[in-house]
Amino acid sequence: MAAFGTVFMPQMTLATFEDSNWSTPKLVSSDTIQLHPGAHVLHYASTCFEGLKAFRHEDGSINLFRMDRNIERMQQSSKLLSLPAFNASLLQQMIVDVVKNVTNEVPEPPGSMYIRPTHIGTEAAIGKAASPTSSSMLYVLLSPVGDYFSGGDKTLRLLLEEDGSRCAAHMGMVKSGGNYASALQPILHARATVNADQVLFCPNGDVQETGAANFLLIDGNEIITKALDSSFLHGVTRDSILTIARDMGMTVSERELSVDELLERAAKPNTEAALSGTAAVLAPVGTLIHNGQEFSVGSGSPGQTTLKLRKALNDIQWGKTEDKHGWLTQI
Ligand SMILES: *Cc1c(COP(=O)(O)O)cnc(C)c1O
Repeated sequence: MAAFGTVFMPQMTLATFEDSNWSTPKLVSSDTIQLHPGAHVLHYASTCFEGLKAFRHEDGSINLFRMDRNIERMQQSSKLLSLPAFNASLLQQMIVDVVKNVTNEVPEPPGSMYIRPTHIGTEAAIGKAASPTSSSMLYVLLSPVGDYFSGGDKTLRLLLEEDGSRCAAHMGMVKSGGNYASALQPILHARATVNADQVLFCPNGDVQETGAANFLLIDGNEIITKALDSSFLHGVTRDSILTIARDMGMTVSERELSVDELLERAAKPNTEAALSGTAAVLAPVGTLIHNGQEFSVGSGSPGQTTLKLRKALNDIQWGKTEDKHGWLTQI
């Protein structure tokens, strides 16, 4: 199986913003785009993206999961990056059109079609370090993906990083390329030195998130995760899991979580931890590494509640249970 995100559908939808207007979206080849070497995005990182999925149900229908949330977040990212604004209906049409074009190619569960809307500043102007781009390109790429957990459900090792941050504090809620570049050195260092899978960024002891996923602590019937603020990415999966947990009668505590409290609770036998994001949905965390010491989370193996919550969300996505929150859009 090819690595996640390395296979692309041959076509994408694309619209451009020029002279204060959005073009009519077109279906074009996804092999190349043409960009001036002085394009704003290449020098000043005016770029944001989204990640959502389309699922095939047993009746053959194709269903998009919480598309409205991803569109809203991309509008917000574009705004915070001073990229041209667009109407939700424009991006919605581009997503629906590009997926409709390949309905036969949407993999069956546990696979799905991963959808990657991208927005970049295209103005050729290297003097605009402190000014927004006047032109941009919005496109929607597709990548069929298989079972994220095909290698079995191994638990993740996270290094708790209290000194650095994932990105600049005011950029946390923007899904922007620069933030991932900024997190790369700490992640590579953690892999090389302590064989960690990911870094859990905890600036000044405040447990935030990893490079590309939100962090949830599950202690018995309670889920604890950081309350929304502008310092981290507001995951759609995080929101979905918290909603399902409330439906199941769990207590959801959105509040500050310190490294001290995390380590204290992790030592209890029934504690679980997980990372949430569109790609993996909910990935169990087995080990926390802090100041050279390793701490098992609960038993260190995938937690029952983690697996139950993941299954509940998968069941909605795959059409195996009632979609009572209206999260799916059939196309
Ligand atoms: C995309 C992303 C997430 C997860 O968001 P979802 O909407 O659940 O996919 C969390 N943190 C970061 C930094 C991300 O880039």
